[in-house]
Amino acid sequence: MNQYDVAIIGSGPGGYVAAIRCAQLGMKTAIIEKYATLGGTCLNVGCIPSKALLDSSHHYEDAVKHFEEHGIDIPGEVKVNLEQMIARKQGVVDQTTKGIDFLMNKNKIDVYHGVGSFKDATHINIVKEDGEETIEAKKIIIATGSKPSSLPFIEIDKERVITSTEALKLKEVPKHLIVIGGGVIGLELGQVYKRLGADVTVVEYMDRIIPGMDGALSKELTKVMKKQKVKFNLSHKVKSVERKGDEVIVKADDKKDKEVTIKGDYCLVSVGRKPYTDGLNAEAAGVKLDERGRVEVNEHLQTNVSNIYAIGDVVKGAMLAHKAEEEGTMVAEILAGQKPHIDYNLIPGVVYTWPEVAAVGKTEEQLKEEGVEYKSGQFPMRALGRARASMDIDGFVKILADKNTDEVLGVHMIGARCADLITEGVTAMEFRASAEDISRMSHAHPTFAEAVKEAALAATDDRALHV
Ligand code: FAD
Repeated sequence: MNQYDVAIIGSGPGGYVAAIRCAQLGMKTAIIEKYATLGGTCLNVGCIPSKALLDSSHHYEDAVKHFEEHGIDIPGEVKVNLEQMIARKQGVVDQTTKGIDFLMNKNKIDVYHGVGSFKDATHINIVKEDGEETIEAKKIIIATGSKPSSLPFIEIDKERVITSTEALKLKEVPKHLIVIGGGVIGLELGQVYKRLGADVTVVEYMDRIIPGMDGALSKELTKVMKKQKVKFNLSHKVKSVERKGDEVIVKADDKKDKEVTIKGDYCLVSVGRKPYTDGLNAEAAGVKLDERGRVEVNEHLQTNVSNIYAIGDVVKGAMLAHKAEEEGTMVAEILAGQKPHIDYNLIPGVVYTWPEVAAVGKTEEQLKEEGVEYKSGQFPMRALGRARASMDIDGFVKILADKNTDEVLGVHMIGARCADLITEGVTAMEFRASAEDISRMSHAHPTFAEAVKEAALAATDDRALHV
């Protein structure tokens, strides 16, 4: 029987990063993945393929809507070739997952393809295509991730009533895509198909989209997406989703309890994700799950069984790839006797629509609820030369700082390239910078990053220069 210092179940960004860090720290490491390719949700059916389609559809939209204004004439009609778009996306996925094979190889990590299940707290049975095998490990990390969740009355047929996984490989552009759930995944994929020519209606239970983010971001994104002709049915409680041939009929109650019927040809159910522990046989090791099916862990990501840890989407906290990665690194370092720490307040959240939405730290709603005295500085993207040059004028940067100490407490932004810009906010907050600190740093001109400096100036003493 093969013996290891550490065995990791699941090869998503949590699992494979944990494996690399364990190997770097000198541990004999195994990783078990039930699918043929490594990389988990993120690389196969999540972050990477969705961004590939967002990028392709963005190019198409630019060609149709903006090339002429830029002085680029295309003879003939610009057309979508969805088959090629999906094939390119798959090419990006294949390249990226192969990169993980390379990293496993380079770090001398043993990879097992098969479903891993606990026999007891130190033994994992692996059901592979060609038979079963048991391995032994002193420490085990559960990194089994999550799966799309649904509503109890919705039958996902994977053809017309679909999850994000199917939405990444449709064979035609929907005529009318109904998106249930105005969160990150629904908005990103909704925008992909809107750009490709579908009508898109978002049905959301709450009174605003991206409900976890600062209210100002929800408001601005709604405004911009409405301009892009996405329809929103907010405060709508979906009651039924029915398929009739190629038609999908969604019924919902609006906030006055009036029934609303929406008809489309595809319905994307994006109401969140649930932790995934099916087939893991966690009971055999005595590992406890919480009431929401997540693996219960303490602040060191250790389960109730002392040699077993859990990370990523299968434990509490934001379901984000970079959160899973930080946790993978943290557990590996704990196992090596180090004392790592994650500041969960500084894990940024991003929506890759265009304009992109990104945030770190506290929202204005949270600061109010916590009774913190704060000040706010905001700067519109449209006041930037760089934004006008590229015709990306929607959005703003908002910085929230402590009223008395000027320490930055939250950075919220919507606009071009905000997914990358938010790192400035994370860095500033990691080093406990004040708004004035940011405002006194030189920001290259012309860049979108100048909006961060200007928002910091606005927060410092209402000193923004270009408004
Ligand atoms: P996963 O990536 O889910 O990996 C778990 C792995 O464990 C899977 O490969 C699974 O097959 C395997 N597994 C499960 N059980 C077993 C078993 N018993 N034996 C063997 N293997 C097993 N996050 C971002 O940060 N940025 C984004 O832009 C982003 N976009 C997304 C877009 C979409 C459409 C979706 C669906 C998600 C997106 N996410 C994004 C979320 C991100 O994908 C997850 O947060 C991340 O993948 C979680 O990593 P993980 O390692 O915890 O689990």
